[in-house]
Amino acid sequence: MDGEVGQPGQVGRAEIVVVGSINVDRRVVVRSLPRAGETVLADSTAQLSGGKGANQAVAAARLGRRTTLVGAVGDDPQGGWLRDRLAEAGVATDHLTTVPGDSGLALVLVDGSGENSIVVAPGANARLTAEHVAAAAPVLAEAAAVLVQCEVPVAAIAEAARLARGLVLLNPAPASPLPDHLWARVDVVVPNRGELAQLTGLGPEVDLVTMARALPCDRVVVTLGGEGALVVDGGLVETVPAPVVEVVDTTGAGDCFCAALADALVGGSTLVEATRRAVAAAALSVQQVGAQPR
Ligand code: ATP
Repeated sequence: MDGEVGQPGQVGRAEIVVVGSINVDRRVVVRSLPRAGETVLADSTAQLSGGKGANQAVAAARLGRRTTLVGAVGDDPQGGWLRDRLAEAGVATDHLTTVPGDSGLALVLVDGSGENSIVVAPGANARLTAEHVAAAAPVLAEAAAVLVQCEVPVAAIAEAARLARGLVLLNPAPASPLPDHLWARVDVVVPNRGELAQLTGLGPEVDLVTMARALPCDRVVVTLGGEGALVVDGGLVETVPAPVVEVVDTTGAGDCFCAALADALVGGSTLVEATRRAVAAAALSVQQVGAQPR
């Protein structure tokens, strides 16, 4: 492919390219999350399309951006199902590769308060290679923003960052050691509190601004759950509080946040303005069920 996106409603090259994971989310709603050794009955179950890469791509497409997802699904029936869900959401799937074996699977347990526990079987996501990503070089080079997370191999996201010519946003989830040459290409990093602690190796006695400044990137947005987000942009520090809302499901709030941040930055917003937009979008997402709320 030469990078033209082929989904209905998308004309021209992708504005946002997401390189990341695609999972079948098996969502199980329980009254309270089981403790070790405990069996609990589910109130309901559902199969949804998920994975950080897919969630961020779907959110970017729903925000009106021409969006391409670079990733891998398995050659099982779920692979075709996932591809269809992405296309339905308006995400260009021409750089999704199909690899032998199972698609990624996430078992998502959600309790009555909206809190979740997740087990992920990476499947095809673990088999996304730098070569697969290199095949998408033209779209990566043309994109205004490339958004990556850490649910696919580091070699794949490092290649995406290398080929990007626009903004590179890194959502380091789950927190993983990353090579210097990748950090050197990252414009904005978006960790949550736990990821920030893991990446810096700094303990809870250290304040968030000091931790953010310890990352090898000048522009940091730390997501703080119901408290909103913290922006550290060189010398500028600003907290953006989240509105108080009725939480239904926090699954994918961080993904919605990252997509909205990328969308606003592509639109020319400053990092603080973009963070305000992302906090507003994520607050809407926690009031709906699933990782890809409409
Ligand atoms: P997840 O892994 O569930 O996607 P995360 O750990 O990556 O989430 P969080 O910091 O929990 O990220 O949430 C991301 C953003 O979502 C927050 O910065 C905030 O803007 C919004 N958010 C999360 N929880 C709430 C809440 N209870 N009320 C309002 N906004 C929320």
